[in-house]
Amino acid sequence: MTITALMPVYGRCDVEPVRGEGCYLYDAQGREWLDFASGIAVNLLGHSHPHLVGAIQKQAATLMHTSNLYKVPAQAALAERLVGLTFADTVFFTNSGAEAIECAVKTCRSFHYAHGNPEKFRILTFSNAFHGRTLATISATNQEKMRKGFEPLPDWFHVLPFNDLDAVAAAIDSSIGGILVEPIQGEGGIRPATPEFLTGLRKLCDEHGILLILDEVQCGVARTGTLFAHEQYGITPDIMAIAKGIGGGFPVGACLATEHAAAGMVIGTHGSTYGGNPLAMAACQAVLDIVTEPAFLAQVRESSTRFVAALEQMIPNHDTIFESVRGMGLMLGLKLKTDSRAFVAHARSHGILAVAAGDNVVRLLPPLIIEEHHIREAVDKLSAAAAAYVPAAAA
Ligand SMILES: *Cc1c(COP(=O)(O)O)cnc(C)c1O
Repeated sequence: MTITALMPVYGRCDVEPVRGEGCYLYDAQGREWLDFASGIAVNLLGHSHPHLVGAIQKQAATLMHTSNLYKVPAQAALAERLVGLTFADTVFFTNSGAEAIECAVKTCRSFHYAHGNPEKFRILTFSNAFHGRTLATISATNQEKMRKGFEPLPDWFHVLPFNDLDAVAAAIDSSIGGILVEPIQGEGGIRPATPEFLTGLRKLCDEHGILLILDEVQCGVARTGTLFAHEQYGITPDIMAIAKGIGGGFPVGACLATEHAAAGMVIGTHGSTYGGNPLAMAACQAVLDIVTEPAFLAQVRESSTRFVAALEQMIPNHDTIFESVRGMGLMLGLKLKTDSRAFVAHARSHGILAVAAGDNVVRLLPPLIIEEHHIREAVDKLSAAAAAYVPAAAA
């Protein structure tokens, strides 16, 4: 037998952390990395944050899991809190981002069904989008590397060019029921939607009686310097999927919707065994306790300004490697003139973790609790990595 016990679907690097503290990860030999990947925008309070750890420990010792057959007071309480913080009137809890998208898409479907328009089953999505790895969510992108080998896939997502409002206007017909979009594409290469695009999508949805579904799985929960990215565009969605940061490392997601959009989500239409269990809810509450502190978002924006300025100062010193910096808040992308995957691997050997993304972008997704010295250290490490970098010769 040659297959590994662990199904070999990841090409894992040899970083093997066993412990985390604040913005750092450590392996069994005590090697240290500055973690500017945050488990892909998940550990927004860094590692071993005492408030989050305490909340999980306390809840684990009290009640971990019951069932959605029963009332789950912690779930109702977190739903109320999220409703109070957002556009939404109602929330369904999941265990991951892809499941939150699935719920969002089902909510859209059932909305049109409930209104007697079952023919509005198609959803518009965008090139280089990423919405997860389930069969439905891989069918919502044109990224070949995710679709390959899994076709035939559901064909009711229609992929259009990102940031092209005219293409969207032209594609809307009586079969379109909604538009699914990341306000800032993450995996696709930290590409923010233009303000005209997102506000234009909102307007088109209103004009055609269809639903705007935002995927804020990566950009949501304070990452961009506002609690949700769409706040900076001055629009609200009808439905929004979140996950990643909301649990701070505990696996949890949610689908938020207005009362109007959730018209079809009645008893029996959806469910999850684990979704919204008391342990997950305790983790989310602890994360929200911190990110809703009055000074927190201002601090994220301040760190962002400082980090962007430092990166912009660094770029000309290594102008054969670095091109530009883009993104919002602490969801930043360093665009390279060379392969970003290889550079991320090289940067690891200089003690900093980042994440490669599409378009030769290095994603910098630090914990939101970074301080000035972490920013200086990150830029020093990226600079040192760049100075020592010899890109592999082009084939
Ligand atoms: C990570 C991600 C997902 C999928 O989340 P999982 O928890 O991996 O299922 C969906 N959408 C976006 C934008 C993401 O970044």
